[in-house]
Amino acid sequence: MLNLTDQSLLKTDAYIDGEWVSSRNTINVLNPCNHETVAKVAKLGAEQTEAAIDAAHNALKSWRSMPAKERSQLLRRWYQLVLENQEDLAQILTAEQGKVLAEARAEIAYGASYIEWFAEEAKRVYGDTIPAPSDDKRIVCIKQPVGVVACITPWNFPNAMLTRKIGPALAAGCTVVCKPASETPLSALALAELADRSGIPKGVINIVTGNAHDIGTRLLSSTRVRKLTFTGSTEVGKKLVSQCSETLKKMTMELGGNAPFIVFPDADLDAAIDGVMASKFRNSGQTCVCTNRVLVHSDIYQEFADKLVSAVKQRLVLGSGDDEKATNGPLITKSACDAVDRLVQTSIAKGAVVKLGGQPSTLGSCFYPPTVLTNVTNDMPVAREEVFGPVAPLISFDNEEQAIAIANDTNVGLAAYFYTRDIGRVWRIAEELEYGIVGINEGITSNEMAPFGGIKESGSGREGSKYGLDDYLEIKYMCMGGI
Ligand code: ADP
Repeated sequence: MLNLTDQSLLKTDAYIDGEWVSSRNTINVLNPCNHETVAKVAKLGAEQTEAAIDAAHNALKSWRSMPAKERSQLLRRWYQLVLENQEDLAQILTAEQGKVLAEARAEIAYGASYIEWFAEEAKRVYGDTIPAPSDDKRIVCIKQPVGVVACITPWNFPNAMLTRKIGPALAAGCTVVCKPASETPLSALALAELADRSGIPKGVINIVTGNAHDIGTRLLSSTRVRKLTFTGSTEVGKKLVSQCSETLKKMTMELGGNAPFIVFPDADLDAAIDGVMASKFRNSGQTCVCTNRVLVHSDIYQEFADKLVSAVKQRLVLGSGDDEKATNGPLITKSACDAVDRLVQTSIAKGAVVKLGGQPSTLGSCFYPPTVLTNVTNDMPVAREEVFGPVAPLISFDNEEQAIAIANDTNVGLAAYFYTRDIGRVWRIAEELEYGIVGINEGITSNEMAPFGGIKESGSGREGSKYGLDDYLEIKYMCMGGI
């Protein structure tokens, strides 16, 4: 049993129309560290999803017409409550997700920053006046909320992926029906409890836990749901996009990545090691912007590989999420761990060489040790697929052209990183990379002020930043005649 300062943050019922909704059927939420049950959460289906759509639809009229300043104040209050309860929220997050407490605390602060940011942005939804083609007309544009938004979120950031969607949606004047990942519903429900306490009116936020297919199908077939915002795998994302085509919903899709991390021979190697350590191993490699392939110039390949191996040995400690000495927790499930190992073993069979790790850990069935592979080529499974685990495959290249060709040889394009001190190369490479986010001499790029999003099969739309509200707004053009 989780021991929280405020035990009432551990919610196990779904949240619909301001009420907590229980069910005889439940989802077992397991701690990935030890497979113990953290809680049993209500497992709802299509019928309750419809009730949540009703609630969001009914709440929309008054929420969107509330002055932006008042919506902003409610969001701000929610933000403050999240920060005041940071420790309990982090404990819940670690228990259901497995990440170490330091990372969980950081995620709560990061998640809260999106609520704060959009509380501010809520007041800055400006329209336009446009010069008209004749003197008796005036052209005015206003921005209006798209309506009810479906938010479907993954387990790797159970708090922040939700605030990154609910924050801008509510700021814009939309209401939401959210389906958190079944592995990690508790963080979402705790956020709902705090939203409730902050005074956000009933029906504005609804959290439906349960069967992904049933809930998703009902949400996406509804004509009253006008937008889907999804973070998850490219595979599931594509299915949802086709389901949205029936009702032509607006979509924000944050899908998979295959991030290259390129180290040029003039790079500050120690800085590059710091960058790749952060980008590769945080959240045990389970983020869509995590480095997936490390491309190193042949002149410095050996030296970089040796430095990386010793950095991993010195800095990373595998352990339970609540072990304060641990830097890296387990992967989310045993099958996730098996999938990582399969990519490693099939790549070894094709010639990759294990410098460190490379075998599941004996700590438990969800634990995979930080792994460094050399002699990797871009056609190996570990380079083709998104690994979603703590595996750093090192690929050698000889020149800029080759580095770019390897980096862009993938159907996804979310984040890319490169290290060089040559200003001309900085511009050339940054412009050539087919990615939505580029870290230049920097391994951590995400923050609420900057636009997060990908190109190609990594999705569409941007979250965070001054652009983040656009995805939740429609432009209405008003042509005024007879003047
Ligand atoms: P991940 O690899 O991060 O688990 P998924 O794409 O499998 O990503 O899941 C992301 C979210 O999408 C989760 O909330 C999951 O429950 C949900 N999901 C998976 N399949 C469907 C579906 N068919 N319809 C609606 N939601 C789905």
